[in-house]
Amino acid sequence: MDYVYGPGRNHLFVPGPVNIPDQVIRAMNRNNEDYRSPAVPALTKILLEDVKKIFKTTSGTPFLIPTTGTGAWESALTNTLSPGDRIVSFLIGQFSLLWIDQQQRLNFKVDVVESEWGQGANLDVLASKIAADKAHTIKAICIVHNETATGVTNDLAAVRKILDHYQHPALFLVDGVSSICALDFRMDEWGIDVALTGSQKALSLPTGMGIVCASHKALEATKTAKSVRVFFDWNDYLKFYKLGTYWPYTPSIQLLYGLRAALDLIFEEGLDNVIARHGRLAKATRLAVEAWGLKNCTQKEEWFSDTVTAVVVPPYIDSSEIVRRAWKRYNLSLGLGLNKVAGKVFRIGHLGNLNELQLMGCLAGVEMVLKDVGYPVKLGSGVAAASAYLQNTIPLIPSRI
Ligand code: PLP
Repeated sequence: MDYVYGPGRNHLFVPGPVNIPDQVIRAMNRNNEDYRSPAVPALTKILLEDVKKIFKTTSGTPFLIPTTGTGAWESALTNTLSPGDRIVSFLIGQFSLLWIDQQQRLNFKVDVVESEWGQGANLDVLASKIAADKAHTIKAICIVHNETATGVTNDLAAVRKILDHYQHPALFLVDGVSSICALDFRMDEWGIDVALTGSQKALSLPTGMGIVCASHKALEATKTAKSVRVFFDWNDYLKFYKLGTYWPYTPSIQLLYGLRAALDLIFEEGLDNVIARHGRLAKATRLAVEAWGLKNCTQKEEWFSDTVTAVVVPPYIDSSEIVRRAWKRYNLSLGLGLNKVAGKVFRIGHLGNLNELQLMGCLAGVEMVLKDVGYPVKLGSGVAAASAYLQNTIPLIPSRI
């Protein structure tokens, strides 16, 4: 029973939690199981191997933790660092702000490198800090790959280049919550030490699983890291990996089967095709925004996100009213503007198991809401721009060729 019924499907276009495909819902519709039976460890063993593919790592060690992105952050930090350690962290939007808050509350000494919201991480400042740090006092660089609040994607390869150029040993910790499985992400190639995501984003699962992957260097760092950790201690997991039973505590059986089904769908489509699809959906969205005469919150093309577009509204419109009305009138869920950009932007999430025609429904809905709130939009303009682009670019569905 819905709490607040609306006919037809809800058009879920917040940038997480996202739509769960029917195949995944069906795979999760099952009884609990004894996780100490041979079945769950067998399932887990293959999942741990397969999940590495979404990080593009062969040497990383993954952990499937019953938590959210916030817990995955904490696991990355407490397993590798000690209180008082100096870290460099980039503040570019609400989620990087929340991670920095966590870093400070865990008593790390954080050099906050702030950019205007809508801009990417200031890597010139990083380069000068790294160049000046001859004594290697900086223990880690923390960066959100894709800032979900503003639709900004940071250049991770450029961060690695800076660290390598100065032969700096800082750990490279990356929040890939709204990027992994949707954007180009290469843990091994970019020398990332800890990468993490949450199940409710591009994997298109329910919330509740934090997926964290650690490099050899990160695992080595656990030996000297003095941060207090209990629930998130990777060594508890590793102990049970060795025993072949895999779980230090009770896993969510349903989420494990859901993850199996989600990975099967991604591999069936092909991870690179999934990433290309996100590129098309994002480009179509940006073309629609342009056709409406509105601005993208992201200030430069190099930072454009392929998973979320934050749209700036004119000052005489409150963007929260757009979000409210979209849900009330059109059964369309859009993302609110958060914190500094509250009331100023609304967000279209275009990530996860989603196709082009679903997006067209969302764009048609946004046009109607814009008109509702008094913005002089030409109905059909964004849809026309998006469909002209998509009609020329959508490939045949790989499994139907
Ligand atoms: N990091 C990013 C980039 C996010 O977008 C979010 C949530 O939207 C989080 C971290 C926090 O994740 P969670 O809400 O699952 O704890």
